[in-house]
Amino acid sequence: MSLAIQGSGVSSGIAIGPVHILQRNTLEILEYTIPAELIDEEIKRYQYALEVAKQQLRDLRNSIPSSTPPDITEFIDTHLLMLQDSTLTSAPVDIIRQQYCNAEWALKQQRDALVHVFEQMDNDYLRTRRDDIDHVVNGIQYLLLANPVLQESTGSTASRFKGHILIADDLSPADTVLMQHQGIAAFITEGGGPTSHTAILARSLRIPAIVGMHHIRHYLKDDETVVIDGSRGWLLADVDDSSLHFYQRRQREEDQRITAYLQTRDEPAVTVDNTTITLNANIELPDDVSAVHEMGAHGVGLYRTEFLFMNRVQPPDEQEQYEVYRHILDNLAGKPLTIRTLDLGADKQVDGGREDINIVTNPALGLRAIRLCLKEPELFLPQLRAILRASACGPVRIMLPMLSTIQELQQVLRLIKHTQEQLRLYKLDFNPNIPIGVMIEVPSAAIMAHMFTPHVDFLSIGTNDLIQYTLAIDRIDDEVNYLYDPLNPAVIQLLATILRAGKRHHTPVTMCGEMAGDPSYTKLLLGMGLTEFSMHPNSLPQVKHLIATSHIPSLQATVNQLLQCDDYENYNQVLEQL
Ligand code: PEP
Ligand code: MG
Repeated sequence: MSLAIQGSGVSSGIAIGPVHILQRNTLEILEYTIPAELIDEEIKRYQYALEVAKQQLRDLRNSIPSSTPPDITEFIDTHLLMLQDSTLTSAPVDIIRQQYCNAEWALKQQRDALVHVFEQMDNDYLRTRRDDIDHVVNGIQYLLLANPVLQESTGSTASRFKGHILIADDLSPADTVLMQHQGIAAFITEGGGPTSHTAILARSLRIPAIVGMHHIRHYLKDDETVVIDGSRGWLLADVDDSSLHFYQRRQREEDQRITAYLQTRDEPAVTVDNTTITLNANIELPDDVSAVHEMGAHGVGLYRTEFLFMNRVQPPDEQEQYEVYRHILDNLAGKPLTIRTLDLGADKQVDGGREDINIVTNPALGLRAIRLCLKEPELFLPQLRAILRASACGPVRIMLPMLSTIQELQQVLRLIKHTQEQLRLYKLDFNPNIPIGVMIEVPSAAIMAHMFTPHVDFLSIGTNDLIQYTLAIDRIDDEVNYLYDPLNPAVIQLLATILRAGKRHHTPVTMCGEMAGDPSYTKLLLGMGLTEFSMHPNSLPQVKHLIATSHIPSLQATVNQLLQCDDYENYNQVLEQL
């Protein structure tokens, strides 16, 4: 008999394959091939980790009280000396160059060689130095693993994860990108919520995924074959042949469904009453543009630029960002591109060379998104310049995340104006009329949406955060995820407020949170007056199908009833009609 375990399905697709369990606190050192053109970058990454490790030891040495026994300070000094020795400064660099391998793997080989030498020694004292090597090497490995390099090369990644279903306690968005490059078939995490950025990224990367499957690592062992269904959130272990055949057939049917949709992908989304609905795509990575075309999206309604800042030591400079934006525009071939300015913080942490970052107690409410950008102009201004320069090359819109006050908007508008003046001075081209929009994802912004509209060209509703902040539920905390409800009357009233503000001031309103791509809410949103949606490209077929069967005036009548409900039971009855 098969064993079935339930979690929250966050990225659809059936995957069948052997399990690989990532153990907490054990270092998984993998070997990758680094393409020749990225070798220098890889060496810099190693040297940077070495520098940070040294600095950490110096800080430790400076912070210990003078009463500390001298053998402790000696121990720190020994480790510092080891970090400055050519066995760690140049040997791993030589290995990277000779073997075209990643820094972690080069360091592991060097560590094994050193340990071997020490183990051959007769002297007991010297043999114990082996622990020092491990201590120092592990310190560097942790730093390297916190800043993994993206494996840009295709087909060169020799990974033992390939085709495996990865089981972890949790994965960061940066890990998720890395895992996809290693060819994993699917992943399951014990923690996490459906609107975490790890889940969003899984959908974007088309990796079937389940989150919130508590204690799953206790029930499985490495290499046993399991089946997972990413839409329903199921895992099947001890699978018999007939179940296996059933799921293999489901996999083939899913492929056929997508092929059938692709025949009509370029037809517009039109309702029964002849209203054309704009369907845009959300993208996270430049490569996602192919899915925009593949699924027939009108353009990009949300490009989450923060992923450009992950898995690297230094943040991308203005020129690099400009080139990426231009490359995306070229590939979009005339389709509009909405570039969201950096939304770092909360569950999207990178250090990007910023050694001073602290993980605050409540990061979702902390220095995130526009707050971080306004505090750190050296991070924000290069991005503004890059976006403005890219606006000379095609239809670009700027979108600002997580505004909670009008003052923040005024500050950003001043910065944009100042950047435009600078570009004019240097005779660099840009579109002076670039549309500027704000994301409405904090309740304060939703309530005063009418005060934002006179200053901007469009509003975009970020329901992932709006729901999180309205209902006070951390979107990545699976303990409270049962409360995460887009249909909560408070959320619906806020959506109505935003849409009313847009209508009153003739400011277009779009929605780019996950709610926009969930077919369960399509009719409700159409009835509320939403005519522009932005979603993960894979969600487009189903949403488009529902639009074609919707009659907006009748939906509007039901939504009006819903918005008038004073009674929760009655509210739920009306909802069922949508
Ligand atoms: C949102 O909050 O709905 C949104 C689209 O932004 P993100 O998911 O990147 O926070
Ligand atoms: Mg958001």
